Amino acid sequence: MPERVALIGLGNMGTPMSRRLVEGGYEVHGFDLSSDALDKFAAAGGTPHDTASAAASGAAVVIFMLPSSAIVDSVLGELRAAGALNATSTYVDMSSSEPLATRANAAALAAEGIDFIDAPVSGGVGGAVAGTLTVMVGGPVAVVERVRPVLECFGRVVRIGDVGTGDAMKALNNLVSAVHLWATGEVVVVAERFGIDPARFIEVLNTSSGRSGSSEVKWPKFILPGTYDSAFSAGLMLKDTRIATGLAAQLGVPAVLGEELVARWTAAVADLGPAADHTEVARWIAEHANESAPASPQP
Ligand code: NAD
Repeated sequence: MPERVALIGLGNMGTPMSRRLVEGGYEVHGFDLSSDALDKFAAAGGTPHDTASAAASGAAVVIFMLPSSAIVDSVLGELRAAGALNATSTYVDMSSSEPLATRANAAALAAEGIDFIDAPVSGGVGGAVAGTLTVMVGGPVAVVERVRPVLECFGRVVRIGDVGTGDAMKALNNLVSAVHLWATGEVVVVAERFGIDPARFIEVLNTSSGRSGSSEVKWPKFILPGTYDSAFSAGLMLKDTRIATGLAAQLGVPAVLGEELVARWTAAVADLGPAADHTEVARWIAEHANESAPASPQP
């Protein structure tokens, strides 16, 4: 009998991840509020259910791939109410969640003998499809080793430390990534206004010290061609950057650049809407710069 794994949250990431589990030989059960998501999950080889508790029931590993900690909490509440939270399953929150909320959930569940760990990912939808995600795991070694074979279906599994450290790693990574995207967006406008072709600029940046994941992947794939279809929303990126600056504040660490990024990203999301692709922020930066365009400097 193949091991049963449940996936709650079958969106841009959850569905390709479920396909990786099916291909890894697992019996995959899932739930999502969206019927469209459930149809795509079924097409990927999963067994859809009408409730989270029906999907989770009897699973050795229950994975959450949800938008936020608040939604993870509400699904945990549903499982509890239905009597579907139990010590025979290991619960793995792969959403980009809040480190301290994750720690609180893990501590509360540990009191009942239930294992709950965090394992958020980086690498985007492309990485989810290809099984090349970086999986950042926070939890006790024995629990992490128990679920490692399942997590290895998604990519490279790295235990960061105790519960919550995976979430902290992920949020801090995304804050850096958002700063790179924003800074690159600003300098591309400057370069273009000075007569440098943006594609040429990105090409040379990418063999120079200013390169980043944004310049190497996001500009060539989603921004320069104008497709803006990375399938990671601007609203989710804003959530992640707020988690990172919130953690800094809780730890008493100044995050001056991070706070500025959050303020500016908040303004962009207020205009674009939270469902816009996060790469559209580059277009927004360019449009706003052009609204207040002064005369070009003389050569
Ligand atoms: P998404 O919005 O595409 O998918 C989330 C899914 O959760 C949706 O299908 C939604 O219907 C479902 N959902 C919401 N509330 C629910 C509930 N109560 N019960 C069941 N299902 C519910 O988001 P995504 O891009 O797949 O991201 C999921 C998580 O992964 C987020 O935490 C995000 O920050 C993180 N993440 C996303 C990417 C990416 O590139 N998209 C990369 C790394 C990490």
